[in-house]
Amino acid sequence: MKNSKKAHTWKQIFQIYWRAIKLLSHVYPQLMISRFLCTVWTALTPYVNIYLSALIIEEMSGGRNPRRLLQLVGITLLLAGGISLGTAFLTKWKNVQEACHFYKDEAIFSKKLFDMDFICIDDAKVQEQFDILKQYSYSGGWGIFRVVSNCDSLISSVFTFLGGIPLTITLFTRKVPESAGGYRILNNALFLLLVFGVMLAVTYLAPIFSTKAGSYWSTYAGAHRKGNLLFGYFGFTGYNKDLAADMRIYRQDVFSDKYTGDKKGAFCSQGMFAKFGRGPMGLLQAASAAVSVIFTAVVYLFVCLKAWAGAFGVGAVTQYIAAITKASSGVSTMIATVGNMKNNTPFLEQVFDFLDIPNPMYQGSLTVEKRRDRDYEVEFKNVSFKYPGSDNWALRNVNMKFKVGSRMAVVGRNGSGKTTFIKLLCRLYDPTEGEILLNGINIRKYNYLDYLMIFSVVFQDFKLFSLKLGENVASGVEYDRELAEDCLRKAGFGERLAAMPEGLDTYLYKDFNKDGVDVSGGEAQKIALARALYKDAPFIVLDEPTAALDPIAEAEIYTKFNDIVDDKTAIYISHRLSSCKFCDEIAVFKDGAVVQKGSHSTLLADEGGEYYELWHAQAQYYTA
Ligand code: ADP
Repeated sequence: MKNSKKAHTWKQIFQIYWRAIKLLSHVYPQLMISRFLCTVWTALTPYVNIYLSALIIEEMSGGRNPRRLLQLVGITLLLAGGISLGTAFLTKWKNVQEACHFYKDEAIFSKKLFDMDFICIDDAKVQEQFDILKQYSYSGGWGIFRVVSNCDSLISSVFTFLGGIPLTITLFTRKVPESAGGYRILNNALFLLLVFGVMLAVTYLAPIFSTKAGSYWSTYAGAHRKGNLLFGYFGFTGYNKDLAADMRIYRQDVFSDKYTGDKKGAFCSQGMFAKFGRGPMGLLQAASAAVSVIFTAVVYLFVCLKAWAGAFGVGAVTQYIAAITKASSGVSTMIATVGNMKNNTPFLEQVFDFLDIPNPMYQGSLTVEKRRDRDYEVEFKNVSFKYPGSDNWALRNVNMKFKVGSRMAVVGRNGSGKTTFIKLLCRLYDPTEGEILLNGINIRKYNYLDYLMIFSVVFQDFKLFSLKLGENVASGVEYDRELAEDCLRKAGFGERLAAMPEGLDTYLYKDFNKDGVDVSGGEAQKIALARALYKDAPFIVLDEPTAALDPIAEAEIYTKFNDIVDDKTAIYISHRLSSCKFCDEIAVFKDGAVVQKGSHSTLLADEGGEYYELWHAQAQYYTA
């Protein structure tokens, strides 16, 4: 599976990297600064040592002046100490920042996902786009995570190269004496040019070979990602407690092994990457190493010959060899890094394509007035809705007005449009046709977060955090403990609360605390109801959060809840009619339309209606 990549110009590569650097510097300035300083420091400081060591050796083999030698050794020791201290300080600073690097990168995506309109989150294509870019990031380190290490290498290589130049330049300018006979060829400009050219070519070739070898990882990143995905999915099935029973009954370990143990799998002995390793990738890496050896040989030969012919002393030999090898490694790293940046560019593009997904929903600026009398009236006016990418109407011409403080039930078969209706009410989606009004104004004109404050919804698939019970109820760390306890009692959790070892401070589940409590499905529902009560929003919506309960238990919870919602407007959704018969008004949904409206008794009196049919179909569950 080949990654389809279009070739990028250098301008495009540097532009996208510059954008990534600006983003990271904004999100994490300390990391970027500490890494920059540390990299420059560690690139340049070795030259101090190389230079001073050369002076000492030179003095020992030449002047042999003990006073000057002492001075040189003193300066070397002092500077070495200072450099070590500086390195220790900068490395510690960088490491502390580095510890959060992964989380800061992840935070960029979390923030984007949180800021996204729900319509985008719910879009399968957006989900796929996100999954793929994360899989590339986790499987090959591609994308934004690689930018910091690329910057490090680039800066380090540039400074290593620049730092080496002053210590290397005289290697080419210092001449062998006239008395050196045939060695005078070493002074010949053409010969020097030839040596320089060979060094440059070899310096250039080594990283080119290794970048080409590395490009197999990016070109075939699709296969790598897929291999990683399969391994991530099947490699850990044994860890999963929820699968343990099925695994044993159906011997699912056998087919799991088929995927993880397949010798032709991406990472296995006969897989694609092993073949590349034995073939072109391995050859290129070997060529890169061989070429580096040629470089070392040429340098040693040239420097030693010049010293032999008397161009400079022994001290200078160590200086030149160390400096030129380092400067050349700087150039090699620079070329390899630029190659790596080129390989990473398509993945960075994916990252920015995702981060640039626009929010299509209009964001109004009107504030929702906070009213003690809860006098908020919401009205659906001829609302129709199609899910993005779907040709079917999920809702059709819905007209509905919620009277303040009323109890309304929304009932109907599965797929009749009940949840879609609630999603539109909470403005998770905008209507395709028609409008929804709050106190006579289109809800699009309100500030969205403000508008959401008037709703408490307990969704079918609500989630609780593995945090303290009280924090779950209040959705916050600082909260009114008395109110939280009161809400839990009202939701029917009073007795269980009294039995909790730490009361409101008891952890739910064991993810963060070994003494955490595993609550049952029914108990979790009560906590979710208490959370809805704690928010104290004027509208409270229960969207079948009790679907896991039997019909009689659900009816009990709904009736009890009716007593505790006080003057709030309550909307109950269920496909079980018995749970909602106490409501002032029942709206019956069928195929996305409201086909009947009225009280339980009036609806039941209509023998040809949907409600009558559903009621009698379900009666067996609760007539007992
Ligand atoms: P209910 O809550 O009554 O079971 P829904 O509101 O969930 O019904 O679904 C109404 C219709 O919309 C169904 O035909 C369902 O298949 C469709 N639908 C629900 N969610 C989506 C979605 N995310 N994308 C496309 N169609 C959807």
